[in-house]
Amino acid sequence: MAFTGLMAVAFQCMVLVAAAPPSDYPIAPVPFTAVHFQDGFWLPRLETNRTVTIPYCFSKCEETGRIENFKVAGGLSDKAWRGGAGFDDSDVSKIIEGAAYSLAVKPDAKLEAYLDQLIGYYAAAQEKDGFLYTYWTARHTVKDPKRVACRPEKERWDNIASAHQLYNAGHMYEAAVAHYQATGKRTLLEIALRNADLVCSEFNENGRRDPPGHQEIEIGLAKLYRVTGQKKYLDQAKFFLEQRGRATGRRLYGPYSQDHKPVVEQSEAVGHAVRANYMYAGMADVAALTGDRRYLQAVDRIWENVVGRKLYLTGGVGARGGGEAYGDDYELPNLTAYCETCAAIANCLWNHRMFLLHGDGKYIDVLERSLYNGVLSGIGLDGKSFFYPNPLESDGRHARSPWFGCACCPSNICRFMPSIPGYVYAVRGDELFVNLYVGGKADFELGRQKLTITQQTRYPWDGTISLRIEPQQSPARFVLKLRIPGWAQGKPVPSDLYRYLDDHPEQPSLKLNGQPLPCQPTAGYVAIDRQWQSGDTVELSFPMPVRRVVAHPAVEDCRGKVALERGPIVFCVEHADVPQGKVLNLLLPDDAVLQSRFRPDLLSGVQVIEGTAQSTRFEKTADGGKRIQQQPVNFTAIPYYAWAHRGQGEMTVWLARSLEVARPLPAPTTASTAKASSSGGDPSALNDQREPKSSGDHSNKFLHWWPRKGTTEWVQYDLARPTEVRAVEVYWFDDTGRGECRIPESWRLLYRRDGQWLPVEEPSGFGCEKDKYNRCQFKPVTTDGLRIEVKLQPNWSAGIHEWRVEP
Ligand SMILES: [Zn+2]
Repeated sequence: MAFTGLMAVAFQCMVLVAAAPPSDYPIAPVPFTAVHFQDGFWLPRLETNRTVTIPYCFSKCEETGRIENFKVAGGLSDKAWRGGAGFDDSDVSKIIEGAAYSLAVKPDAKLEAYLDQLIGYYAAAQEKDGFLYTYWTARHTVKDPKRVACRPEKERWDNIASAHQLYNAGHMYEAAVAHYQATGKRTLLEIALRNADLVCSEFNENGRRDPPGHQEIEIGLAKLYRVTGQKKYLDQAKFFLEQRGRATGRRLYGPYSQDHKPVVEQSEAVGHAVRANYMYAGMADVAALTGDRRYLQAVDRIWENVVGRKLYLTGGVGARGGGEAYGDDYELPNLTAYCETCAAIANCLWNHRMFLLHGDGKYIDVLERSLYNGVLSGIGLDGKSFFYPNPLESDGRHARSPWFGCACCPSNICRFMPSIPGYVYAVRGDELFVNLYVGGKADFELGRQKLTITQQTRYPWDGTISLRIEPQQSPARFVLKLRIPGWAQGKPVPSDLYRYLDDHPEQPSLKLNGQPLPCQPTAGYVAIDRQWQSGDTVELSFPMPVRRVVAHPAVEDCRGKVALERGPIVFCVEHADVPQGKVLNLLLPDDAVLQSRFRPDLLSGVQVIEGTAQSTRFEKTADGGKRIQQQPVNFTAIPYYAWAHRGQGEMTVWLARSLEVARPLPAPTTASTAKASSSGGDPSALNDQREPKSSGDHSNKFLHWWPRKGTTEWVQYDLARPTEVRAVEVYWFDDTGRGECRIPESWRLLYRRDGQWLPVEEPSGFGCEKDKYNRCQFKPVTTDGLRIEVKLQPNWSAGIHEWRVEP
């Protein structure tokens, strides 16, 4: 990919490139360096990424030893290698990639000098033959080798299934190409090429045949091929893909790493979602660059599977936390949705490539959905608070984090954000695709014609877009292909996984220089083929009513529920926008009137949806039964991407449409009206009246004392009023097989009298059994406070799901 506007670099590139690649994608993106956002939505986010996120993430890498590790490996520091995993190197490379993109659009001498310094550490850390993996090279300095997850055991390429040597390499190649294209400097590129040459000589038909456990190097190698013209790098990418699912002298890694069958025979998205989507992107690259139709057919089949059965409404993928993985068909739980930020980014990378292969707008529909929702939710408005998983529902346990031990997501944000302008336009021969609508200006070449195109719009808040076309020499004949988003054609996704509940009569419209044109898209685009004059103006109008969306009935967790959308934005209801902060018990009838308006004061300026829902709650009836009571409450729904900026609490994308699926709040009890406190953990879990399915149920909120072990702990209720109490019931948390919490060794119950804690008399027993309530009946006492003292088992921690009190 050439970078328009950097003629010196482009010239240098031409001199250096041995031979032009014989084939590539039939469609070429207009590079991000040629597309300048001037809008109120993306530009501020990109500026925050440039001025906050990138420097912040570099400082986090310094703080956590990620950068020092290169110096340690290179003999420039006598400190010990620090970190939790061998893949920590990749974070630095991803941020360098993002910084290089940032330099490409905004020169910054200080940043460039900082990168030079980092690249110096890379050079020092690289072994003579090109090997570069700081953990291995610096391993003798590691203080606690047990802390280093997935390390090579005996030799440096050892444990390639989980040690990430090749994953790191892939990110370094991407960073090297970005740095070279941004600055014209070959420093990092030379390091990358030396490493790639070593990889090519080690991994081949006559050498090692084990593919990387975590895909990524395939994308990096394709980029090295494009920038050097050396076919061996492309061959190497294909070699790694060809090894997957083929047990030649090795044991297969299995579906977790998409190593269960040859890639060209795969039809279903399985396993670790980031690995999977990077692999599908790599397969698309190989399909485009080699013309191998088996690859094309395989990614087409897998795409149908994801978009038809495994895609969240937010464009996120990866349903399961266990294995960070794709689930089965239609397995799309909301509270426990994993939807890793990296997987959403990878989904954009893959869908963009699918578009470049096929030229169909449906791929951009998926990209746009991921971009505005599942990706953007991963980065806070401040540019330095992150989500790793992006669930579609919260009971209050989720919060943005300043960093992660495994920091793949923040560093991925660093590099992805500056590349977004590169998704707006693309060209094929005399066709110009307009894929995304963002206010701003682009200057690029279409054939031999220089062209400026200016977009004016308030998208995604408003569906009116004005495009001004200025060919340098007019008239200029070309085909302008305007994407008519699926959501504007009544189809939220290009499958039957989600559909709009309501019909909307207003259709998209199109005008050329004020004259209406037909707006009937083919494969997602309306084409205008004409002799363009400078100043020609195209106006698009996409009506943006509030839409109700329902899911395919096979999606169990969405059955009977509705979500709200407007344009490309998915909305959610959050605790801060509802009285008492309760949203999981809300019911939104189909006939409830919904309105939308822009709130400049809220969350950096967002469109909101307002309406009246029904808050549902159980109440006791005179005959001892219970019925559901409904109470109207006004609510405000905000864009999903902007949630979790106002404290922790409930959030949901999907709302019940009827009483059958509503989740009413339980009737108030002695426990639920008590004030809970504890010696550790989150005491609000004790009396939230949400029932666990088992002691190991991680989806239900629980209190735990981990990492404390073997200690004596307590939980306490201050009752709303003095009450006669005769029994309590405790449901223990125990995550045997997963974590370090076990049922406790013993416990006892105290009650408060005159400010003193006294043990209850004649207790029926203090059970420590799993998967049930442990009931303790005793001689009734009238009290204003109860306390449970818990003795933890030696070497084990403990926790409680729920603590009930019987008056
Ligand atoms: Zn990640």
